[in-house]
Amino acid sequence: MNHNPYAWIEESLATIHQANWYRSVQTIHSRPGATVLLSGQEVINFASNDYLGLAGDERLQTAAIAAIQEFGTGSTGSRLLSGHRELHRDLEQGIASTKQTEEAVVFSSGYLANIGTITALVGKRDLILSDQYNHSSLKSGAVLSGATIVEYPHNSTALLVKTLQEQRHNYRRCLLITDSVFSMDGDLCPLPELLDLAEEFNCMLLLDEAHATGVMGKTGAGCVEHFGCTGRELIQIGTLSKALGSLGGYVAASNALIDFLRNRAPSWIYTTALSPADTAAALAAIKIVQQEPQRRQQLWRNVDYLKQLIKEYLPNLQLLPTESAILCFQLSDAATALKAGKQLREAGIFAPAIRPPTVPTSRIRISVMATHEKEHIEKLVEVLKSMQL
Ligand code: PMP
Repeated sequence: MNHNPYAWIEESLATIHQANWYRSVQTIHSRPGATVLLSGQEVINFASNDYLGLAGDERLQTAAIAAIQEFGTGSTGSRLLSGHRELHRDLEQGIASTKQTEEAVVFSSGYLANIGTITALVGKRDLILSDQYNHSSLKSGAVLSGATIVEYPHNSTALLVKTLQEQRHNYRRCLLITDSVFSMDGDLCPLPELLDLAEEFNCMLLLDEAHATGVMGKTGAGCVEHFGCTGRELIQIGTLSKALGSLGGYVAASNALIDFLRNRAPSWIYTTALSPADTAAALAAIKIVQQEPQRRQQLWRNVDYLKQLIKEYLPNLQLLPTESAILCFQLSDAATALKAGKQLREAGIFAPAIRPPTVPTSRIRISVMATHEKEHIEKLVEVLKSMQL
């Protein structure tokens, strides 16, 4: 009998290596920005979620420092005990006003916001319908809730209708969950159709706006605004850690729903409140998003420029359909994707290979920032050209 109950871990790691699925961290030695110092090499950064370039913005930094000076580094407890500050309220009001919802609540991360909300809203007697390409936090929340989960093929409303017709009546509540911008593909969910289906079949709809917040819609309010669906009843979740350059998550919805979450979402009730620095930085970012639409406009100009160059110079690149600031091109397997990521890196471009199990097929993921210069985008295309993909 084998007396080492941990022996399987090394075997499992060996299998991960063999499949070219092994991952490790890469160290950045500089402030966030369009270029960064990656293990001693200056590279053009197409790997971050800092779409508006706010993570290195002086104004967020000043706000965070002022909050630390006034309130210290830690929030010292959960929101319902000693952790609540006026800053949290200001941030929540700022989010609700951007989203044009009655109320909002901030969590300590987007991951926790998804898990806490899903587990609070549904349980054993309920049904969750989840897009196959949803983010891990939505999938984990679904599993933790104990509800029956049906995963529908990516963006297939036809199969969703079929499942609803066949199964909705067997369950008490039904929750549709979907990313709005799919994080590893860059395409969007068909939000208006999903909202109509939710209404027709008496379902709640939870939309993950992580990659849409600050980016999509005229005022940066997200895909709900982009699709002209502002004011329709749904649950919007997002993160403060991507375009907003800070850390934390949020839920924006009706007064009643948010009040319910404050009483029933375990990952809000039983975790330490967002730190004063993160809260203040996110609040400063929300204001910048509202006051500086030119950042978002520049981001879209950059995305359009890159798409135009790809069309002109890289007609064979297998670009996945995208309507966001995320552009992915597919490669035959994990080893080829790793090799491409390495070649890019050697040429001064930071754009990671994304492989299974994160995604079904291996790819290089490029995320565009408002602060990229034309030359950065041209360099990326020039390097891709030389790689003969
Ligand atoms: N949802 C999506 C679609 C995401 O991409 C992410 C972050 N990778 C999250 C949720 C989690 O957000 P956070 O990083 O704030 O935990």
